Amino acid sequence: MQTNEQLFARAQRVIPGGVNSPVRAFRAVGGTPRFIQRAQGAYMWDAEGTKYIDYIGSWGPMILGHGHPAVLEAVAKAAADGFSFGAPTEREIELAEAIIAQVPSVEQVRLVSSGTEAGMSALRLARGATGRSKIVKFEGCYHGHADALLVKAGSGLATFGFPTSAGVPPEVVQHTLVLEYNKVQQLEAAFSEHGREMACVMIEPIAGNMNFVRASVPFMTRLRELCTAHGVLLVFDEVMTGFRVALGSAQSVYAGLIPGFKPDMSVFGKVIGGGMPLAAFGGTRDVMSQLAPLGPVYQAGTLSGNPVATACGLATLKEIAKPGFFEALGARTRSLVDGLTAVARQAGVPMVGDSEGGMFGFFFADALPQNYGVVMGTDKERFNRFFHGMLDRGVYLAPALYEAGFVSAAHTEADVAATVAAAAEALKR
Ligand SMILES: *Cc1c(COP(=O)(O)O)cnc(C)c1O
Repeated sequence: MQTNEQLFARAQRVIPGGVNSPVRAFRAVGGTPRFIQRAQGAYMWDAEGTKYIDYIGSWGPMILGHGHPAVLEAVAKAAADGFSFGAPTEREIELAEAIIAQVPSVEQVRLVSSGTEAGMSALRLARGATGRSKIVKFEGCYHGHADALLVKAGSGLATFGFPTSAGVPPEVVQHTLVLEYNKVQQLEAAFSEHGREMACVMIEPIAGNMNFVRASVPFMTRLRELCTAHGVLLVFDEVMTGFRVALGSAQSVYAGLIPGFKPDMSVFGKVIGGGMPLAAFGGTRDVMSQLAPLGPVYQAGTLSGNPVATACGLATLKEIAKPGFFEALGARTRSLVDGLTAVARQAGVPMVGDSEGGMFGFFFADALPQNYGVVMGTDKERFNRFFHGMLDRGVYLAPALYEAGFVSAAHTEADVAATVAAAAEALKR
C-alpha cells in the first residue's frame, strides 16, 4: 500500500502539481490531497483505507451518491454494446428529450463532453447568432477555462478586463466585460454604454464557484429586462446548478420568483452526466439552428453524446425525476446547513449558510455575502482550520472557501448528524 503522501510525491513527478485539475491539490487549504480508491453511496475511501463522508460528489455530478445500482446497470449494459461509434444513437435523442422535458426554455440541445466545452460553444453561438462580439460575465463566476472567459475585472465601471491566466492574450479578452455580481447599478451602466454591442451575458444564477451566492431577485429581474431591451442573449451557466438545485434547474427557482422568467440559452454539465464526461448547451430552436450543420456557427466533437456517458446521464436523470426526490434532498441539505450553523452558534463562532436542493454553502461571516469581494473577505484561516478539522474526523468538504458543497440522495440523516457532531468538535478551538 502507498500512503497519500507517497502517491502525491509520485504524482508530482509525472503530473504538474500532481493533479489533473488544480483545486484537487489542496493548495488553498494546505496539506496532502487524499488519493481516492473507491466510493460507495455517500462515502469515499482513500488509498490508506480511511473513510470519508463525501460532500463534494465529484464537484456535483454524484447526486445519487456513488455506485447507484440503476446507474451501474445502465453503464455496464451500454459499455457492453460499444464505447463510441462516431455516429448518432437513440440515447442521444432520449437524453436531449429528458433535458428539454424539465427545462422549458430549452427547445433544442447539443451534447458535448465537458462544461468548459459547453460554455465555450454557447459563447460562440451567442456571438454567431447576434453578430456581436462583446460579452459580459461576473466576477467570481466560473464558466470553464475557455480563453475569453478567463478574465478578471478591470478597474472602474464598465471597463474591459484582464486575463486571469498566462497564455491568454489581452486581445482575446478585450471583448469581455466583467461586472460585479448583484450590482444593479453597474449592470445599468454597462448596458447603457455597450448594450448594443453585446452578444450575451453569461451568469451562474446561483454562483457555486464563489461558495454559494444567489443572484438577488431584483438583480435577476433587471438583468432579464436589460437583455431583452438590448437584444442581448441571457445565458444561464447551469453546469453546477442544473438538475442539482431543482429538477427544473436554477431557472425554475427564478421562474417561481419572477413571473414568466426564462433565460435565452442554458449550459449544463455535471449532474446530466452522472459522473461521466457529458455536458450540453441549449436554447430556442431559432438560436440553436445557427449551429453547424444547419447554420454558420461551427462546433463538433468526436466523443460528443458518447453512448456510455449518455446511458449514465439518462439513468441519473430518471432517478432524480421520481416524485419527492428533490423535496427529500432539499430537506436533508437544509438540515446539514442548519446543523452546522447551530453548532457554530453554540461555539460562539460566526457562521452563516444557505442551500437550494442538493447544493449548499457556508461562510465564517455574520451575513451571507452577495458578491466575490465579500466572499474572499470571509475568515479564510478559520475555514482552513475547520476544513482540516473535519477531514481529520472523516468528513470531506470542498478544499477551498470559494467552493460550494453537495449532498446526495445517499446521505442519510445519520450522516448529517455525524457531520454536525464532527463540526461541533472541530469548532472547539
Ligand atoms: C464545473 C463548471 C464548469 C466547467 O465544467 P467542466 O466540466 O469542469 O469543464 C463551468 N461552469 C460552471 C458553473 C461550473 O461549475
